[in-house]
Amino acid sequence: MSKPVRVRYAPSPTGFPHVGNIRTALFNWLFARHHGGSFIVRIEDTDVARTVEGAVEAILDGLRWLGLDWDEGPEVGGNHGPYFQSQRLKRYQEAADRLVAQGNAYRCYCSSERLDQMRAEQVKHKQPPGYDRACRTLTAEECGIREGQGIVPVVRFKVPLTGQTRTNDLIRGEVVFENSTLDDFVLLKSDGYPTYHLANIVDDHEMKVSHVLRAEEWLSSLPRHLLLYQAMGYQPPLFAHLPMILGTDRSKLSKRHGAVSITEYKEMGYLPETMVNFLALLGWSLDDKTEIMSREQLVQGFSLERVSRTAAIFNIEKLNWMNGVYIRTLTIDDFAQRSLPLLDKKLPAQVKRPLSLDYIRQLAPLFQERARTLAEVPELSDFFFVDELEYDAALLVGKKSTRESTLRCLEASRERILKLDRFDKESLEGSLRPLAEELGVKTGELFGALRTATTGRTAAPPLFETMAVLGKDLCLKRIDVALDKLRGMGL
Ligand code: GLU
Repeated sequence: MSKPVRVRYAPSPTGFPHVGNIRTALFNWLFARHHGGSFIVRIEDTDVARTVEGAVEAILDGLRWLGLDWDEGPEVGGNHGPYFQSQRLKRYQEAADRLVAQGNAYRCYCSSERLDQMRAEQVKHKQPPGYDRACRTLTAEECGIREGQGIVPVVRFKVPLTGQTRTNDLIRGEVVFENSTLDDFVLLKSDGYPTYHLANIVDDHEMKVSHVLRAEEWLSSLPRHLLLYQAMGYQPPLFAHLPMILGTDRSKLSKRHGAVSITEYKEMGYLPETMVNFLALLGWSLDDKTEIMSREQLVQGFSLERVSRTAAIFNIEKLNWMNGVYIRTLTIDDFAQRSLPLLDKKLPAQVKRPLSLDYIRQLAPLFQERARTLAEVPELSDFFFVDELEYDAALLVGKKSTRESTLRCLEASRERILKLDRFDKESLEGSLRPLAEELGVKTGELFGALRTATTGRTAAPPLFETMAVLGKDLCLKRIDVALDKLRGMGL
C-alpha cells in the first residue's frame, strides 16, 4: 500500500448506534490499527430534520466504551477538520458551484408539487422512479427567469446517460453499474445543505481517506460517488462494502433478535471486550475455528481478505456465551468493580448506599461462575443486600418434607450455628452435614430449608459459601424469621 492508511467512521446522528453501525466502526478501527494508519470519526449531520438529540454523545460514548480511540475527529481535532459536516457547508457549496460551472451539474427549479406529481405518474405507469431531467437542458436565460421569480433551486448531478461505472470492491470484486439506471440525484438542497453523496465525497477527498469500509447498504450509492469523484477530478479511495448482518432466521436484524443500541448492551451488563470480539466476528474470521480473541489478536489478525461476502448472522446466544467466557476471565476484583455500578443501579432502593466494594468482593466468586451478564449479578445476589427477605413460608418446606420436619431441621441448625466459633465454609459444612444424619433426614431436606431461610430462594449459589459471606448474625436472624414463618404457617 503506497498511500498512508486513513479510514473513517462517518455516522449520521439520526439515531443511537446499533450493531451494524458499530461493526462498521470496529472494522475501520481494526484496519487502521493493523496497518498503523489513522482512524477518523466524522459526524455526517447534514440531515437536520432527522438529527436526534443526544445521538452524537451516544456514538462517541459507544466508541469510548469499546476502546475504539480515534486519531482525528470530534473532541480530539486534527489537521483536516472540522469533523462535523454541518460546519463544512461552504466546502460543499463551492464543490456544487464548481460542478455547475464545469457542466457536470445543473440547477433544478422544479417545485415539490411537480416532483410529487411526476412520482405519482411513474408509479401509475410502473416506470422506475427518478427525476425526469426537466431542468437538465434549461438555458441560462430560462434559469434567470426562474431566479427572478424567487425560486431557490437545488443542484443536481448530470449523470451520463450511457456507459457503465465500475470499480473493484476489495471484498466483492468487480462491481459494474449501468449509468442509465441512475437518475440526476440532488447534490445541494435549496437550504444550502448538501446531500450525503456530495458531502461524503468532498470530505473523503479532503480528509485524504484511503479506504472506505462501510456497510453493503451503501453499495447502491457507489456509482454516484465514483461519478462525482471523476467529475471533481479526484482520485477515489478504495472501497470495501461489508456484508449485511441478519438475525438467526435470516431476516433483517432487529430488536427481536436481541440487537439493540450499543448503549443498551452496556446497561445490560455485556463487557466491552466481549462486544469487540463478538462484533469482529460479524463478517470476519481469523480462521475457521478461533472464537475468543483479545483486542491485540484482532488487530494483528484483521484483514479484508477474510471479510466474507455473505451475510453475517447475529446470534444473541453466542453473545451471551461469549460474555460468560469473558466474565470468568476477570479477576475477582475487576469483576466486583464492574458489577458495582449495576448493583448500585438495580438493587432495591431500601438497600443502604454506598455499597461496600469489600462486601461485593466477598460475594463475587459466588456469581462470577454463573453470570452471563453483569446485569444478572443484582438479580442473583439481591438477598445479600436486603434487610428482609420476602418469600412464602411454604417455600421453606421441601417437596418431600413437612412443616414439622422443617421446623426441627432449622431449630437444630440454629443450635449448631450458635455454637460455631469460626463461620467459614469448612466449619459450616463440618457441623451441618452430620446433622442431617443425626436428625434422620436427607441432607437435601436440611440444606434446602437452610437455603430458603438464608436466601429466600430455592436456587442460590453453594449454601455454605453463601452463609459464610452472609455472616453468622444475619444467618441466625434469618433462621429466626423462617422459624416464625413456619410456626405461623396455616394458623
Ligand atoms: N453517514 C453514513 C452512515 O450513516 C455514512 C456512509 C458511508 O460510510 O459512506 O452510515
